[in-house]
Amino acid sequence: MSSAPAAPPAPPNPGAAGSIDSGGLGGHPRGLTTLFFSELWERFSYYGMRALLTLFMVAGADAGGLGYDKKTAAAIYGNYTMSVYMLSIVGGFIADNFIGARRSVLIGGCIIACGHFSMAFSSEATFFAGLVLVALGTGLLKPNISTMVGSLYRPDDERRDAGFSIFYMGINLGAFAAPLVTGWLAQSAEFRAMLAGWGMDPLHSWHWGFGAAGVGMTIGLIVYVLTGERLAHVGLGPPADATRPWGKLALVVIATAALMGVMMLADQYPSVVYGLFAVQIAAVFYFAFKPDADSKRIAAILVFFIAAEIFWAIFEQAGSTISLFGDQLTRTQIFGWNFPSAWFQSVNSLWVIILAPGFAWLWIKLGRNQPSSPFKFMLALVFLGLSFVLMVPAAKLTAEGKVSPLWIVGLFFLQTLGEMCLSPVGLSTMTKLAPQRLLGLMMGIWFLATALGNKLAGVLAGHFESKDASVLADFFFKQAIWVGVATLVLLALIPWVKRLMGGVR
Ligand code: GLN
Repeated sequence: MSSAPAAPPAPPNPGAAGSIDSGGLGGHPRGLTTLFFSELWERFSYYGMRALLTLFMVAGADAGGLGYDKKTAAAIYGNYTMSVYMLSIVGGFIADNFIGARRSVLIGGCIIACGHFSMAFSSEATFFAGLVLVALGTGLLKPNISTMVGSLYRPDDERRDAGFSIFYMGINLGAFAAPLVTGWLAQSAEFRAMLAGWGMDPLHSWHWGFGAAGVGMTIGLIVYVLTGERLAHVGLGPPADATRPWGKLALVVIATAALMGVMMLADQYPSVVYGLFAVQIAAVFYFAFKPDADSKRIAAILVFFIAAEIFWAIFEQAGSTISLFGDQLTRTQIFGWNFPSAWFQSVNSLWVIILAPGFAWLWIKLGRNQPSSPFKFMLALVFLGLSFVLMVPAAKLTAEGKVSPLWIVGLFFLQTLGEMCLSPVGLSTMTKLAPQRLLGLMMGIWFLATALGNKLAGVLAGHFESKDASVLADFFFKQAIWVGVATLVLLALIPWVKRLMGGVR
């Protein structure tokens, strides 16, 4: 046999050569370990800073904060968290057509770290510069690190969903640890006393918290660079000689900026929100009644999109409404020791870490009998609505003084049950449905639902009222009712959505 061995068949998708590899976490490709730890640290920085953001803005100058009123703080919080996720569309497009996912993550991570370090300085200018940098960097990093997880697997690799569950654990390990660290630095009497002891201004404690977020991102970058070879050829992007669609990039940037601009008007003109939903519902019907299968699938995706948007609109009030409820209306003591109210921000992630293995087990056990994705999305809305129903008696009890922290623990338990039915399912579905060359953009669109949800969360949180218990109870109740209505509509639509999906689960 003198002839050279035949070349191995090309993998069905160019990013999938790692799929034979099982040397990483839990028998997954080695690249998953790199992505897991890099994203863990990136989320450490994101949630570490976010845990402080609203509290820092509403704290008075005598407490080292910016002294904004709640409405302004909620609007800035909503615009910031919207921008973070909306820029994923631009970030995904840049990766697909210019520099690839791998380099996008590296550059994005550097920009994020600069943003957090900027906030370590005590001035309004460096604060806002920091927010802008973190939003730009996260737009480059977040969608592309997520698509790289999908690209580690061949299309038919059964490990993909489990891989996303492991990745989601990494996200939440970072998100769990971060508020404990940044909250202690920013809010605890102990650390303030230490600063005073070192001859520093104790009111600058907030900026130490923001700086710690930057250290987290830097660790993520070091992990990413040192272990990057494990990613094999995943996320390399288009060939060097491919044409670069600069014109389309300009369009994507303009469209994203325009949408962000329109959404920012929602603070003054709530009708923008009604317009947003009207356009989306019209789009569902437009695509559903076109004859071809692809259009019908798009209609189904749009239904998921709207459900996800509603979900995040309530869920993402964690860093605003719930942050303020925890800080102003809840007892923050365990065994006589006062803990920083930012620690409530770790509770959701703790529940994910506790509950995710159970969900992974359940989905595997149910196998082909597991509920369809529209049914899982509907369940997510049920739990979400119940979480705000739970807050109604909690809000009423605030009339008598600060309430037990267990209310917030219970709220996050219910919300996390919902999150497990929606978020990892959505991520994995996007990488299954998207063609290879549009992966980044599709993931950007998934995060667009998060972006719009975050903006709505900011608009809703602007109505948070800590001084009147019955108004506050009403605030939670009304939102629960709206979620209830959305749940019933989705329940009624499930058979139709399944037909639109044409066989994809
Ligand atoms: N908690 C998850 C993350 O940080 C999901 C966030 C979202 O999509 N709203 O990635």
